[in-house]
This record gives sequence, C-alpha cells and structure tokens, in this order.
Amino acid sequence: MTIQKRDILLATALMAVFTVFVLIGIRYRLFLAPAAVVLVCYLVLVQKKLRCPNCGRSVKLDRLLYAINHPYFCSECDERIIVQTKSRS
Ligand SMILES: [Zn+2]
Repeated sequence: MTIQKRDILLATALMAVFTVFVLIGIRYRLFLAPAAVVLVCYLVLVQKKLRCPNCGRSVKLDRLLYAINHPYFCSECDERIIVQTKSRS
C-alpha cells in the first residue's frame, strides 16, 4: 500500500479552502459553517489516507509534499514512504 499523490494534493487544497473560509468568516460569520465542513473532510482524509503504509502513523502534510519529490523515511519505523504519482487502474 502506498500513499497517493492526488490524496496529498486534495488535502492541501482542502486546507487552502479552509483557510480562505476562516479568513472570510472573521468578517462574515456565515462562512464559518462551510469552513467546519471542509475541516471535517480534511481530517477524515488525513485519518484514512495520509498515514505511513507500514506502521500506520499519521504523517504531516508538509512532510508528504516533500516526499513527492524526495526520498522520505517514516520517523517512527524508518520505512521509506513512497508516494504514488500515477494512479493505477
Ligand atoms: Zn512508519
């Protein structure tokens, strides 16, 4: 089992959207509701997909973005985390 690049990018996008909603939410409280929904989606994605395939430890998003282009080893089990950039059908 490997980590999919599209899941990493999706999580990054969700984080960006969440930040935008919160910034707008400071002025318009109405936007805090969709911000909460986006945050829940993000947390579910992180919990389910963005984990070390070997030991199951959750890996930070910035570490995973680094792992796309560089060799990265899990801080818990020292197993290399391979990010799959092409989706297999
Ligand atoms: Zn690990």
